[in-house]
Amino acid sequence: MARRKKVYEGKAKILYEGPEPGTLVQYFKDDATAFNAEKKATIEGKGVLNNRLSEFFMTGLNNIGVPTHFIRRINMREQLIRAVEIIPLEVIVRNFAAGSMAKRLGLEEGTQLPRPIIEFSYKNDDLGDPLVPEEYIIAFGWASQQDLDDIVALALRVNDFMSGMMMGVGIRLVDFKIEIGRVWDGDFMRLIVADEISPDSCRLWDIETGQKLDKDVFRRDLGNLTDAYTEVARRLGVMPANSGFGGKPTLVN
Ligand code: UDP
Repeated sequence: MARRKKVYEGKAKILYEGPEPGTLVQYFKDDATAFNAEKKATIEGKGVLNNRLSEFFMTGLNNIGVPTHFIRRINMREQLIRAVEIIPLEVIVRNFAAGSMAKRLGLEEGTQLPRPIIEFSYKNDDLGDPLVPEEYIIAFGWASQQDLDDIVALALRVNDFMSGMMMGVGIRLVDFKIEIGRVWDGDFMRLIVADEISPDSCRLWDIETGQKLDKDVFRRDLGNLTDAYTEVARRLGVMPANSGFGGKPTLVN
C-alpha cells in the first residue's frame, strides 16, 4: 500500500489518494468495531465481502438515478470513489424498532414502525455519535434546511431500493445508516450517497427465521460474522458459488 498516499484511516476503511483529482481509493479492512470501538476484532474476509456488497448496492443505486460516490471496483479490497466533503451526520433510517431506538423507547425489537423514521447522529467518536435534532444541524451549520430536505429524500429512496432488494432474497431491512457527501460541479453543489452500504451498517434479519445477518452477530456474539455476510452475498448472487470464491473468504491484498 506504500504506493499511495493515505488520506484518512477510519475504523473499517482507509482512504488513499486516487489516480485523478476528485477521486479516492477506498480500502476495506477486516477490522470490526462496536460500541464506539470498545469492542474490536479482526474478522478475516469481512473487508472483501463489504467491498463487493457496497459495490453491488451503490451500483444499483446509481442505476436507478440515486447518485453515489461509487465509480468502480479496483480489486478484492479496493474501490474507486468520488472525493466528497462528508456531512458530519450519520443518517439512520428505521423500518422496525431495534438497537438504540428499541432501548430508548422500551419497544420490543422488531416492532413495525408506523412509517420509516429518519434520525440523525452527529459524527463524533469522542462524543459517541450523539443523536441530534434537525435544529442543531441547522443552527451549527452542518447542513442547511434545503440539504436536510434533500438528504431525507435520498435516504427514503435508498430505503425503498434496499428494502426491495432484500425482500427479494428473504431478508428484512430493519434499519441502516448512510453518510452523505457534497460534491461540486462548478458552482453547483450536489449531495450524494457516500461511505459504504454493507451489513456493517444495516440490520438484516431473515424474514422466515429472524436470524441476524449483520453486524449484530459481532456486537452480540451470535456466531461467525463472515458466515452471515457470505450468506447475504450468496443470496444476492454477489459471490456465486461457482465464482471460485467458495464459502469462506480468503485474505488477499
Ligand atoms: N449504525 C452504523 N454506525 C453507527 C451507528 C449505527 O452503521 O455508528 C447503524 C446500525 O448498524 C444500525 C442502524 O445504524 O443498522 C441503527 O443503529 P442504532 O442507532 O440502533 O445503534 P446501535 O444499536 O448500533 O448502537
